[in-house]
Order: sequence, then structure tokens, then C-alpha cells
Amino acid sequence: MLTKVIEQAKIDHFTKWFERADKIVIVSHVSPDGDAIGSSLGLYHFLDSQEKTVNVIVPNAFPDFLRWMPGSKDILLYDRYKDFADKLIAEADVICCLDFNALKRIDDMADAVAASPARKVMIDHHLYPEEFCKITMSYPKISSTSELIFRLICRMGYFSDISKEGAECIYTGMMTDTGGFTYNSNNREIYFIISELLSKGIDKDDIYRKVYNTYSESRLRLMGYVLSNMVVYSDYNAALISLTKEEQSKFDYIKGDSEGFVNIPLTIKNVCFSCFLREDTEKPMIKISLRSVGTFPCNQLAAEFFNGGGHLNASGGEFFGTIEEAKAVFEQALEKYKPLLTAKS
Ligand code: 5GP
Ligand code: MN
Repeated sequence: MLTKVIEQAKIDHFTKWFERADKIVIVSHVSPDGDAIGSSLGLYHFLDSQEKTVNVIVPNAFPDFLRWMPGSKDILLYDRYKDFADKLIAEADVICCLDFNALKRIDDMADAVAASPARKVMIDHHLYPEEFCKITMSYPKISSTSELIFRLICRMGYFSDISKEGAECIYTGMMTDTGGFTYNSNNREIYFIISELLSKGIDKDDIYRKVYNTYSESRLRLMGYVLSNMVVYSDYNAALISLTKEEQSKFDYIKGDSEGFVNIPLTIKNVCFSCFLREDTEKPMIKISLRSVGTFPCNQLAAEFFNGGGHLNASGGEFFGTIEEAKAVFEQALEKYKPLLTAKS
């Protein structure tokens, strides 16, 4: 049995909308990850089974290793089909905002979503939600939005309508947002949910292989290169890796190729904080990814030094300047956070 995470009043409110709605649009965040796509498609398959007209729209492309997911071909990319997407957003009865809690996370889609007269619901697990939805289902203690989608569908009384395809998408989001159930994954109810998803016929071992073991040769070589240039700050229990635009083109970099790199330095004994600086190819900025193990608050450091935020153990931000300058800021941050980084836990 699952505890009731989502308040009953919110379930009832959403159920009323759901019963009356015909056109439903699902949106998720820029540079969608496994949970963004998994939760969106999990909900998409369910709504589709209820004869709703459903469209999933994301700001830009998602990584190749998510393309096998059932329904992924139907996802509309806003940066390619803006006019069509704008029309769908404007004419929707309900817009479901998944895996983000601030309009700036959907980039150029923000204005269209904000302006739409549709009823809006947020289903998310990031801290400090903004108020732009009539119903806000925000639960930072839950490790993925995909898990929340499972909980929502079940609480509405539709467990039996979750298809194998929908279950595969939900499982993928739960798996990727916990690093294959290696962090934020101690809640025993996660494993109850996995058991329920297995009852739908999913092959979890196959999903793992499809997501994590489909590297291109150039990605693996890039990984080796990035790690060979890693800087370890032993006195701070921290490590830094980086990637310039020039290096990306040398390794035929395509979107998603550096996914997960930031976690690798955490496999060094005593390293509890890792930073990845990547020069963006579209905007003149450095994308920052931060990961920690234990109690070190990446999100606090991201907010203070890199205009960002996120979860305790996984955060990100942006830096406008060169990689060298970003590195210098990172080193200042290490100095400031040294007591926390070196505290014995
Ligand atoms: P990633 O390192 O995978 O890009 O991001 C990890 C997490 O950090 C995301 O799930 C999100 O919560 C947060 N995050 C990443 N980039 C940003 C950003 O620019 N601003 C904020 N507020 N959060 C971010
Ligand atoms: Mn998520």
C-alpha cells in the first residue's frame, strides 16, 4: 500500500478538470531529461487511453538514449514547431506542467503557457514552486515526477488503465532521477511501485540497458578525455571537470553526450562534491552541473554562485563568462563552503 502523498482535495479538483477536458497539453522543461520525458509520456499514455486529445510539448530536443520510449515520436519540439505548438497551448482545456516549477524553466514557451486561458496544474518535485498554476502538486520529498504521475493515476482510480507502454515511461523517469536507484531512493514505497510496474509486463533490465548502455564510441572517448583533465581538490573533498566548445567539436559532440559525466568524480573515495562546467553551443554561457553525496547542499551553492538551484544532491546553474572564470568562481565557492565539505558526517 502507498501512503497518500497528494492531498485528496487536489486529486478531486484535478479529477473534475480531467472529466470535463478534451484537449490536454503536457509541457516539461528545457533540455528534457529522463524524468521530464518519462513523466510526460507516462501521463500521455494514460490520458490517451481515456480518449483525450493529448499533446506533449517540450522546449527543445531530448537525448538520443530516450528515443526508444513509446510515444517519444509524438513529442512536439517547441523550437521547431512554434506556431503549431502555440496554437495547441492557446486552445488547450488543461495544461499539465511536469517536472518544473518556475516558468523560466520552459524557456521560450513561458509566454505562451502563461497567456493561455487553459486550467493549469503543476506536478513536480523541486523546491520552492512558483505560483503560476491553479493546482500545485509539489512534493520535493518524492524522488521523481514520474513517481508522482503513478501516484496521481492510482489515486484517481485508474491503476488498471496504466498500459505496459505507460509503465515503461514511468519506470524510466523513476530510474533516471535516482541514478538507477542509487540516490534519493531509500523510500521503500519506490520498490512497491516498481513491483506494480513489473505487473504491467515491463522489462526493467532491458530499460536499464536501453538508457545506460547505448553509448557511441565518441561519447566514451570524450568521457576518457574529460576525466583525464579532471581536477581533484583533495583538501575540499571536491572535483571539477569541464568541456569547452572546441573540445566538443573535436569529439563530434551531440546533445546528451555528456549526460551523467558529473556523477563520475563522486566515485572517488572521499569526494562528496562534483562540478561539471560545459560551454553551451547555443547560448554564450557556461552550463553548470553540481552533484553531491550526503548532506552537502549543491542547491545552496548553485543559488549563491551560479544563479541556479535544484535539489540538495543535484543542482545546476548558469555562468556568463569563460570556463576559466567559472572555474575561479567555483574555487571561491569551495573556500566558502570548506567547513561543510570537510565536516565528518
Ligand atoms: P543537470 O545537472 O542535470 O542539468 O540539473 C540537475 C538539476 O539541477 C535539475 O533537475 C534542476 O533541478 C536543477 N537545475 C539545473 N539547471 C538549473 C538552472 O539553470 N536553474 C535552476 N534553478 N535549477 C537548475
Ligand atoms: Mn525530475
